[in-house]
Amino acid sequence: MSARILIVDDIAANRQLLRYKLEAHYYDIVEASSGPEALDILKTDKPDIILLDVMMPEMDGYTVCRRIKEDPETSYIPVVMVTALSERDERVKGLEAGAEDFLTKPVNELALLTRIKALIRFNTVTGELRDRQARGEHFGATDIPLAQLDRPATIVLVDANELSSARITRLLEKKSHKVINAFAPFFSDTAFETADAVILSSVKQPYDPLRLCAKFRMTPAFRSISVLMIAHERDSDLAFKALDLGATDVIFSPIDGQELLARITTQIRRKRYVDTLRQRVDRGLELAVIDPLTGLYNRRFMERQLDTVMASVRRDGTHFSIIMIDIDYFKSINDTHGHEAGDVVLSQFGDWLKSQVRGVDTVYRLGGEEFSILMPATTADQAFSVADRLRRAFEKTPMKLGVDEETISVTFSAGIASSNSKTIEADTVLKDADAALYSAKMKGRNRVIQKAA
Ligand code: GH3
Ligand code: MG
Ligand code: MG
Repeated sequence: MSARILIVDDIAANRQLLRYKLEAHYYDIVEASSGPEALDILKTDKPDIILLDVMMPEMDGYTVCRRIKEDPETSYIPVVMVTALSERDERVKGLEAGAEDFLTKPVNELALLTRIKALIRFNTVTGELRDRQARGEHFGATDIPLAQLDRPATIVLVDANELSSARITRLLEKKSHKVINAFAPFFSDTAFETADAVILSSVKQPYDPLRLCAKFRMTPAFRSISVLMIAHERDSDLAFKALDLGATDVIFSPIDGQELLARITTQIRRKRYVDTLRQRVDRGLELAVIDPLTGLYNRRFMERQLDTVMASVRRDGTHFSIIMIDIDYFKSINDTHGHEAGDVVLSQFGDWLKSQVRGVDTVYRLGGEEFSILMPATTADQAFSVADRLRRAFEKTPMKLGVDEETISVTFSAGIASSNSKTIEADTVLKDADAALYSAKMKGRNRVIQKAA
């Protein structure tokens, strides 16, 4: 996957060297020769990743990084601090300034490409979540304080080598992290459930580290866990494969303790950041798209899903059907038994509909006593037989009116329309289904009408 990378360095030769290495892998490069110039570029151009030199006259890299992270317009862009080898402590300072990653000069090509790959993956996940949050009009995702992201974490260590495992454990415990050894007393999966991060060694291990890596990404409960793979310096193949399979970062052995701690810090941040974003998105989405009376999705959500379905109709030539449903003479239920009893009927009807359709079909309450069912990969004839089966079953399903045992029978009318090869707008299908529903009402109710082909 390609990406646009902003290189910030005061020395032209350094910029050129990085540009040369990255362009060989088809990355798109933008350059800035100072902090202020970089900040200026960021006003109009939003790269996917920023490589930021620390030592620069005028404004140093930390200040630039802090500015980037303070501005909600740019704070989501991952920053990689580039420090000289002699500046080991500088890594920590970079992380304190909010940087996502760091590289040491002279920049090793493998390390560079590994970092970039890992960050692009991170961008893909958070970018999608941010988009969804923005669409839910709850922007402000990056306001999670570092103190909250940097709390001590639970880390599972998968390293069968007792010596290195003891060393890594000591390092992490010094930073108050809780370390669980996956091999003590024997290898078990359950430890991963509580983990913020997993450190997977691939150096002389009795298990297949790539297989384990893949498993993390395929198990939904483990989806957001950070996986830091330890790979041998010469094993670049394994490093890249691990990243492709879902490792979130790679560190090369022999391991530098400071680097391990710094990397684990960024990995824990990443996990908590993604979790927080995901929770906010879920909560925001729920509030915005769920009808409180029936718990069904609302019209807004149907329109959003129709956009997605239409995209696949255009792309793959698949089709879908929609059933519009309106309860017959609902007003008289309210008039006879009261509005509350009407609500009870609506909520039962919603539950009943949901229990009657396939998992791939979605039931919505569009408003009042109008509902709909979106059926992917379903022809009009198939949808018709489903709707008519529902109609016949529903007239025989007694609806309760409230706490006592009194029930009434209720019927509905339905209209069906489907996409076809000429469909270009979801709106057309909706209008057709509405028109079919209208004629079902006109023809006497308690019936299903399919839009004439
Ligand atoms: P038709 O067979 O033509 O569909 O007749 P109808 O009475 O079902 O349709 P109409 O659209 O005339 O009336 C719908 C009624 O539904 C009017 C409105 O007060 C009632 N209604 C809308 N939303 C709710 C709700 O949330 N709860 C209850 N109890 N009633 C509602
Ligand atoms: Mg009605
Ligand atoms: Mg109505």
